[in-house]
Amino acid sequence: MAETEGGGARIDGTEVAKRVRGEVRRRVAGVADRVRPGLATVLVGDDAASAVYVRNKRKACAEVGIESIHTELPATTAQATLLAKVDELNARDDVHGILVQLPLPEGLDEKEVIDRLSPEKDVDGLTPVSQGRLLAGTAGLRPCTPLGVMRLIDETGVDPTGKRAVVVGRSLLVGKPVGLLLLERHATVTYCHSRTADLEAEVASADILVAAIGRPKAIPGSWIKPGAVVIDVGINRTDDGLVGDVDYESARLRAAHITPVPGGVGPMTIAMLLSNTVEAALASVRG
Ligand code: NDP
Repeated sequence: MAETEGGGARIDGTEVAKRVRGEVRRRVAGVADRVRPGLATVLVGDDAASAVYVRNKRKACAEVGIESIHTELPATTAQATLLAKVDELNARDDVHGILVQLPLPEGLDEKEVIDRLSPEKDVDGLTPVSQGRLLAGTAGLRPCTPLGVMRLIDETGVDPTGKRAVVVGRSLLVGKPVGLLLLERHATVTYCHSRTADLEAEVASADILVAAIGRPKAIPGSWIKPGAVVIDVGINRTDDGLVGDVDYESARLRAAHITPVPGGVGPMTIAMLLSNTVEAALASVRG
């Protein structure tokens, strides 16, 4: 964690993600006699951004010793063909995690594809079974970005127990699971969203603030409670480059710990995907 002049400590997500990858690499080596973790990636169509994301995930796998099993299908692929591919990967013993890169090309039903994934291989934590397990607080794979958020909070040394946590955003991918993970860690959780009556007052009450909105600098620094932990999930492309949902420059003057954008939550997502793949592989040999 780096100190920033005249402000709170910057939570260095790039550094933490590197450490998580190192932990994963050591775990992969440590279980080599029992299992070789394998992650299947499925890329449908020729979306350039999706191709880059998948390439980065495969490269990250190679760096930590996870086997990468890759499938590319044309944009014209029929729903039944894609479902058959998922079935095949579900059945393979050398595949412990399956990642179907989203969004899928038009005409394909994402929900049906995600629902078809074996929950034991759902390393993105997106199936209804994984979501139900999170809600129930039972063992299961949790979504990667929310796991990354929790790891960054832990890096600050701040224990969520009894703290007021405010999550701005209630998407299935980020906001909702982050709130549930914070609740599991005994925080008092408030969800905010586009219909929240007084967002400023809610944010001002937060000991731990997680912003997952998707609106550049929607939260000004003046709203931040002095001494708060601020985790900014937002990634917004603007004329000034990538910015978060929180106005970093003013917020860091009040926060005790704050993530920058880029270099905060972003790098954590792939790191937690690798970690989930190892968890899934270990669970498969535990039976
Ligand atoms: P969604 O668009 O699915 O959800 C946005 C949420 O923000 C909604 O719940 C919405 O409320 C709420 N919201 C929108 N406007 C306001 C407002 N003015 N005040 C309060 N709440 C508001 O986005 P995601 O959850 O998928 O992503 C959020 C951000 O996180 C994006 O910038 C995305 O790029 C980024 N992201 C980053 C990742 C990473 O790896 N770092 C991974 C995933 C996402 P309502 O429900 O009422 O519409």
